[in-house]
Amino acid sequence: MKFQPTASHFINGEYLESANGKAIDVVYPATGEKIASLQAATPDVIEKALRSAAAAQKKWGAMTGTERGRVLRRTADILRERNRELSEIETHDTGKPIQETLVADASAGADALDYFGGLAASLTGEYIALANGDFAYTIPEPLGVCVGIGAWNYPIQIACLKAAPALACGNAMIFKPSDTTPLSPLKLAEAFVEAGAPKGIFNVVQGFGDVGAALVADPRVAKVSLTGSVPTGRKVYAAAAEGMKHVTMELGGKSPLIVFDDADIENSVSGAILGNFFSSGQVCSNGTRVFVQKRIKGAFLDRLCTRLASVKIGDPMDPEVNFGPLVSQRQLEIVKAYIAKGLAEGARLVHGGTQLERPGFYLQPTVFADVRDEMTIAREEIFGPVMSVLDFETEEEVIARANSTEFGLAAGVFTHDLTRAHRVARQFEAGTCYINTYNVAPVEAPFGGSKLSGVGRENSKLALQHYTDMKTVYVSVNELQAPY
Ligand code: NDP
Repeated sequence: MKFQPTASHFINGEYLESANGKAIDVVYPATGEKIASLQAATPDVIEKALRSAAAAQKKWGAMTGTERGRVLRRTADILRERNRELSEIETHDTGKPIQETLVADASAGADALDYFGGLAASLTGEYIALANGDFAYTIPEPLGVCVGIGAWNYPIQIACLKAAPALACGNAMIFKPSDTTPLSPLKLAEAFVEAGAPKGIFNVVQGFGDVGAALVADPRVAKVSLTGSVPTGRKVYAAAAEGMKHVTMELGGKSPLIVFDDADIENSVSGAILGNFFSSGQVCSNGTRVFVQKRIKGAFLDRLCTRLASVKIGDPMDPEVNFGPLVSQRQLEIVKAYIAKGLAEGARLVHGGTQLERPGFYLQPTVFADVRDEMTIAREEIFGPVMSVLDFETEEEVIARANSTEFGLAAGVFTHDLTRAHRVARQFEAGTCYINTYNVAPVEAPFGGSKLSGVGRENSKLALQHYTDMKTVYVSVNELQAPY
């Protein structure tokens, strides 16, 4: 099999196979063919990963930030040199079109390694003047062994977004990819070793939820960063709380995208397309509730459907194709069930809605109009190519409805009215907001969710705080007074 890795896991600088692990079959979503077969980690593999990470962290944490940064930036260069190969792996693992994976996966991961590699040398504490010449200073210290757990939509990007700040701060990481897409994080582990990282500083352990749970529960683990659904987030957060561990939670969403009637129609249709159909709709921050002001509803839907008619669905390895299959048969069934619910609850299907008659897990980009707030498709995260268009009349009404959700990952507004744009952004209950654009997530700016969508932030300088323990040292230069 072309994409079969040397072995399932990567521990202490080398590939390792687990004897008798549960089988993990990797399938190309465009055809349903098996492209690799791995084995889930058994307890001895997990133990090896924990030991090697703990030992490596001691060496890595003692290096200077400049040295660590150099390794991260070299790793970024290696990913960029191999971008084509890594993108082909990602396309076969996830089904995402090669035109997407070439620009949004390993290359975005390399940006994170460059960015945090650049910051590693700047991690310093501060001097704090106190009364009578006394003072305190702070020392940013690594947390120790961190666990990263990934979802299946951006396997190597998620691994890099977690590993880069963790390693920059002097931590070690054990990464567990989703069992649906286990391949590319192994290539990241190879690149770290080639770049000169100590063996064991980034280990990859394959498995299902139980392997993730075993890692989270281990007392040697100081921090857990999860990208996944809200139900998994609840379990992982609760398990981490037992050991008072640090957490970052990047979870699901049902984000609103508001289009006011003064907005540029083409731009807002572009925003709705980018916010719903990139990666066949399998993006956490998608603006799946598109609120369109009544006066322009007809024009908006006309342009949207016209532009969707030119989508190129097909073999994701064809560079012309811009819409691929869903990641798995299971995800296809979940999304089809939501489409059936949308129809049953009275939403009006204006585009798509059916599975393609060809091998693989293909579903047309789907748009429902006349969606009401209480419908299932407007409340639950679907994680597939299904856009709900809802009507609104006033700014006050639409903000209340946009915020009326337990999620708070992202939100967007399209308008030409400058004051309204900022007023609306200020009122959104969401961690990541967009004005006249949607779904960009450059490494320089913080990304993450409010409410049930998450805890903590990835990207930006803020991420460094989530991988650092700040030690305070008080110093007296005076005689000490005691009451007796
Ligand atoms: P899941 O929540 O099903 O799984 C996420 C990861 O957690 C997988 O690796 C899974 O293992 C693992 N896992 C499952 N149970 C446990 C457990 N008890 N303890 C530890 N680990 C566990 O999410 P999906 O993979 O289905 O991804 C889709 C979800 O991810 C969507 O809700 C999406 O919104 C969210 N997401 C959020 C992003 C963000 O940045 N906010 C970005 C991308 C996706 P396995 O599946 O192998 O069994």
